[in-house]
Amino acid sequence: MDCIFCKIVAHELPATTIYEDEQCLAFLDIHPVQIGHVLVIPKIHAETLPELDELALLPTARLVKLMSQAIIRGLLADGCTVSQNNGRAAGQVVPHVHFHVIPRYASDDLHAWPNQKYASSENKEEVAKKIREYVRPLGI
Ligand code: AMP
Ligand code: ZN
Repeated sequence: MDCIFCKIVAHELPATTIYEDEQCLAFLDIHPVQIGHVLVIPKIHAETLPELDELALLPTARLVKLMSQAIIRGLLADGCTVSQNNGRAAGQVVPHVHFHVIPRYASDDLHAWPNQKYASSENKEEVAKKIREYVRPLGI
Protein backbone atom coordinates (compact mmCIF):
# COMPACT_ATOMS: atom_id res chain seq x y z
CA MET A 1 0.00 0.00 0.00
CA ASP A 2 1.27 3.45 -0.88
CA CYS A 3 0.97 4.94 2.61
CA ILE A 4 4.00 6.54 4.27
CA PHE A 5 2.91 5.60 7.78
CA CYS A 6 2.33 1.97 6.73
CA LYS A 7 5.87 2.10 5.31
CA ILE A 8 7.16 3.35 8.68
CA VAL A 9 5.27 0.49 10.38
CA ALA A 10 6.91 -1.95 7.93
CA HIS A 11 10.35 -0.36 8.60
CA GLU A 12 10.59 0.54 4.91
CA LEU A 13 10.94 4.21 5.87
CA PRO A 14 12.98 5.51 8.83
CA ALA A 15 11.44 7.05 11.92
CA THR A 16 12.62 8.12 15.36
CA THR A 17 10.58 5.62 17.34
CA ILE A 18 9.56 6.38 20.91
CA TYR A 19 7.41 3.28 21.51
CA GLU A 20 6.30 0.26 19.52
CA ASP A 21 4.23 -2.85 20.19
CA GLU A 22 2.15 -5.22 18.04
CA GLN A 23 -0.73 -2.79 17.67
CA CYS A 24 0.59 0.75 17.72
CA LEU A 25 3.56 3.02 17.27
CA ALA A 26 4.76 6.42 18.50
CA PHE A 27 7.47 8.39 16.67
CA LEU A 28 8.71 11.95 16.30
CA ASP A 29 6.99 14.16 13.76
CA ILE A 30 9.43 15.06 10.98
CA HIS A 31 8.28 18.73 10.95
CA PRO A 32 7.46 19.37 14.61
CA VAL A 33 5.09 22.15 15.63
CA GLN A 34 7.18 22.16 18.80
CA ILE A 35 10.35 20.19 19.63
CA GLY A 36 9.26 16.77 20.92
CA HIS A 37 6.03 16.64 18.83
CA VAL A 38 5.06 12.94 18.73
CA LEU A 39 2.73 11.10 16.36
CA VAL A 40 0.79 8.10 17.65
CA ILE A 41 -0.66 5.65 15.12
CA PRO A 42 -2.44 2.31 15.03
CA LYS A 43 -0.43 -0.17 12.95
CA ILE A 44 -3.49 -1.29 11.04
CA HIS A 45 -4.27 1.03 8.12
CA ALA A 46 -7.38 3.18 8.35
CA GLU A 47 -7.57 6.54 6.67
CA THR A 48 -9.56 8.40 9.30
CA LEU A 49 -10.74 7.95 12.89
CA PRO A 50 -14.40 7.30 11.91
CA GLU A 51 -13.14 4.37 9.81
CA LEU A 52 -10.84 2.91 12.46
CA ASP A 53 -11.81 -0.35 14.15
CA GLU A 54 -12.66 0.33 17.81
CA LEU A 55 -10.42 -2.48 19.00
CA ALA A 56 -7.47 -0.83 17.26
CA LEU A 57 -8.38 2.52 18.80
CA LEU A 58 -8.15 1.24 22.36
CA PRO A 59 -4.39 0.59 22.51
CA THR A 60 -3.78 3.69 20.37
CA ALA A 61 -5.71 5.85 22.85
CA ARG A 62 -3.76 4.33 25.73
CA LEU A 63 -0.53 5.17 23.92
CA VAL A 64 -1.70 8.76 23.39
CA LYS A 65 -2.14 9.05 27.16
CA LEU A 66 1.28 7.47 27.82
CA MET A 67 2.94 9.86 25.36
CA SER A 68 1.20 12.86 26.92
CA GLN A 69 2.64 11.87 30.31
CA ALA A 70 6.10 11.10 28.89
CA ILE A 71 6.27 14.43 27.02
CA ILE A 72 5.32 16.46 30.08
CA ARG A 73 7.71 14.60 32.37
CA GLY A 74 10.59 14.04 29.94
CA LEU A 75 10.60 17.49 28.37
CA LEU A 76 9.46 19.40 31.46
CA ALA A 77 6.51 20.74 29.47
CA ASP A 78 3.73 22.66 31.21
CA GLY A 79 1.07 20.71 29.31
CA CYS A 80 0.39 19.15 25.95
CA THR A 81 -2.08 19.44 23.09
CA VAL A 82 -3.54 16.30 21.51
CA SER A 83 -4.99 16.86 18.05
CA GLN A 84 -6.21 14.63 15.28
CA ASN A 85 -7.26 15.66 11.75
CA ASN A 86 -9.77 13.75 9.62
CA GLY A 87 -10.06 14.58 5.93
CA ARG A 88 -8.47 17.25 3.77
CA ALA A 89 -10.90 19.91 5.01
CA ALA A 90 -9.56 19.32 8.52
CA GLY A 91 -5.97 19.63 7.34
CA GLN A 92 -5.20 15.90 7.14
CA VAL A 93 -2.23 15.39 4.86
CA VAL A 94 -1.21 11.82 5.65
CA PRO A 95 -4.14 9.44 5.03
CA HIS A 96 -3.41 7.06 7.94
CA VAL A 97 -5.04 7.82 11.33
CA HIS A 98 -2.64 9.66 13.62
CA PHE A 99 -2.78 11.62 16.83
CA HIS A 100 -0.47 14.61 17.33
CA VAL A 101 0.85 14.92 20.88
CA ILE A 102 2.49 18.32 21.17
CA PRO A 103 4.37 19.63 24.21
CA ARG A 104 3.11 23.01 25.44
CA TYR A 105 4.80 25.67 27.51
CA ALA A 106 3.25 28.56 29.40
CA SER A 107 5.35 30.92 27.29
CA ASP A 108 4.76 29.28 23.88
CA ASP A 109 3.28 31.15 20.96
CA LEU A 110 0.81 28.54 19.69
CA HIS A 111 -2.45 30.41 19.42
CA ALA A 112 -5.84 29.14 20.53
CA TRP A 113 -8.69 28.46 18.07
CA PRO A 114 -11.36 31.10 17.46
CA ASN A 115 -14.67 31.04 19.32
CA GLN A 116 -18.03 31.15 17.56
CA LYS A 117 -21.53 31.72 18.92
CA TYR A 118 -24.79 29.84 18.32
CA ALA A 119 -27.44 32.05 16.73
CA SER A 120 -29.95 31.12 19.47
CA SER A 121 -30.63 28.42 22.06
CA GLU A 122 -33.02 26.80 19.50
CA ASN A 123 -30.25 26.70 16.91
CA LYS A 124 -27.91 25.14 19.49
CA GLU A 125 -30.51 22.43 20.21
CA GLU A 126 -31.02 21.80 16.44
CA VAL A 127 -27.30 21.26 15.99
CA ALA A 128 -27.17 18.84 18.95
CA LYS A 129 -30.19 16.95 17.50
CA LYS A 130 -28.50 16.48 14.11
CA ILE A 131 -25.47 14.94 15.80
CA ARG A 132 -27.49 12.77 18.23
CA GLU A 133 -29.22 11.08 15.25
CA TYR A 134 -25.99 9.22 14.58
CA VAL A 135 -25.15 8.35 18.17
CA ARG A 136 -25.77 4.92 19.67
CA PRO A 137 -25.12 3.59 23.17
CA LEU A 138 -21.46 2.66 23.59
CA GLY A 139 -22.41 -0.47 25.52
CA ILE A 140 -19.46 -0.36 27.93
P1 AMP B 1 -1.73 15.82 9.30
O1 AMP B 1 -1.68 17.19 8.72
O2 AMP B 1 -2.60 15.76 10.53
O3 AMP B 1 -2.04 14.75 8.27
O4 AMP B 1 -0.26 15.57 9.86
C1 AMP B 1 0.68 14.80 9.19
C2 AMP B 1 1.97 14.93 9.97
O5 AMP B 1 2.85 13.92 9.56
C3 AMP B 1 2.69 16.27 9.76
O6 AMP B 1 2.84 16.93 11.01
C4 AMP B 1 4.02 15.86 9.14
O7 AMP B 1 5.09 16.67 9.59
C5 AMP B 1 4.16 14.42 9.59
N1 AMP B 1 4.97 13.58 8.72
C6 AMP B 1 4.87 13.42 7.38
N2 AMP B 1 5.77 12.51 6.94
C7 AMP B 1 6.44 12.07 8.03
C8 AMP B 1 7.50 11.12 8.23
N3 AMP B 1 8.04 10.45 7.21
N4 AMP B 1 7.95 10.94 9.50
C9 AMP B 1 7.41 11.64 10.53
N5 AMP B 1 6.41 12.52 10.40
C10 AMP B 1 5.94 12.75 9.18
ZN1 ZN C 1 -1.31 3.38 6.26
